Amino acid sequence: MNTQKVDFAIIGGGVTGLWLNALLARTGFSTIVIEKTALGVEQTLASQGMIHGGVKYSLSGLVNNHFDTLKGMPERWMKCLSGDDPVDLRNVKILSPRYYMFSDESLSSKLITFLGSLLLRSHVSPVKSADFPKPFNNPKFKGNLYELKDIVIDTRSLVENLTREFETRIVKGHPEIVCKEGRISSLIIDRKYRVKAEKYILAAGVGNQKIINTVEIPLEMQNRPLHQVVIRGKNLPDLFAHAVSIRDLSKPRITFTTHIVDRHKYWYLGGELAESGVKRTSLDQIKFAKEELKNILPWIDFSECKFSTFRIDRAEPKSKKNLKPTKAFVRFYENTIVCWPTKLALTPQLGDDVLSNIFIKPNAEPELFAAERPEIGKIPWI
Ligand SMILES: Cc1cc2nc3c(=O)[nH]c(=O)nc-3n(C[C@H](O)[C@H](O)[C@H](O)COP(=O)(O)OP(=O)(O)OC[C@H]3O[C@@H](n4cnc5c(N)ncnc54)[C@H](O)[C@@H]3O)c2cc1C
Repeated sequence: MNTQKVDFAIIGGGVTGLWLNALLARTGFSTIVIEKTALGVEQTLASQGMIHGGVKYSLSGLVNNHFDTLKGMPERWMKCLSGDDPVDLRNVKILSPRYYMFSDESLSSKLITFLGSLLLRSHVSPVKSADFPKPFNNPKFKGNLYELKDIVIDTRSLVENLTREFETRIVKGHPEIVCKEGRISSLIIDRKYRVKAEKYILAAGVGNQKIINTVEIPLEMQNRPLHQVVIRGKNLPDLFAHAVSIRDLSKPRITFTTHIVDRHKYWYLGGELAESGVKRTSLDQIKFAKEELKNILPWIDFSECKFSTFRIDRAEPKSKKNLKPTKAFVRFYENTIVCWPTKLALTPQLGDDVLSNIFIKPNAEPELFAAERPEIGKIPWI
């Protein structure tokens, strides 16, 4: 059996694996990414692609840990998107250079105070009614509109961009984990060849748990289930916004992004709708979404639109009381590094964490032999 020696063997070809591959390769390390199905196929291509600065997590009125970790992320991504970072994302499509937050009624005093505090730090700015963009430039819109410094990217172009430069280091296969004395000693790929690495990076999203169990790493993860809503309609206006409500200020009632896939236009809906919707059947979730839309955007006609739903789990490290993690997660165990970005937006932070804690020098020569390459995955919610 052939043996491939590398500095880093990365299991999983979502944004985490592909980002680390690009970053470590640029730093001079030899790497290999092993993807079992298709690149980006799980959470990454299911994501809404929002690179947010944390405002949405701070709606409860407290500028919390989420906000502190995320606030620099849109700027950091802009550096990558303009080619001014070791991870060069110049070919990634920006779906929207801005993001909005709107209320269904006039804002409560609590929210006004909170937004005022962010205003001072120039994270949000109010939009005057004369400047309302579509679909808010309608007399029936009685709420307030704020612009956030967040951006929305096209996740498929992100996966393509991260793949292109270092494609020959990405292989398709099911890695069998071989352990010796409590650490990974090699990976056997589809019983065809062996990969021996200085360090093994687990970047397999929900798939990390199985590997952690095999290696007996004392770590647990949690899945956060979501039930997203998808609306297809050719006359839908572009909408990139959080709808917030006086009913519950702690999270956006609905988080909207707009996508064009195979020449069809879609709204992809997440936020509280997707979190609370895990208990609903698909039909009930659609019914509930339609009622919400009638309240939030009553002037938009959805009669020609096709509604569907999509279920998926977010992968996170286990936390007490199932709380949302506030940072990217990176842990080192022997020669293994376990990673969950917890948010696409936090991937640069995860990359920095890995790079500043590896303490090895580039060693193995990258001489990859011919292997099957995985395809770029399809958008899973279509
Ligand atoms: C519906 C939804 C919306 C989201 N929206 C946003 C958003 O707008 N903004 C934001 O910041 N974050 C968002 N997120 C979170 C973000 O998508 C994830 O944090 C991020 O994509 C995780 O990337 P990953 O590469 O770690 O995991 P994944 O994208 O899940 O990739 C894991 C990869 O590993 C592969 N794999 C699994 N097991 C194995 C194995 N044994 N061997 C080889 N390969 C394996 C899988 O096939 C997959 O390709 C969203 C998540 C969801 C689910």
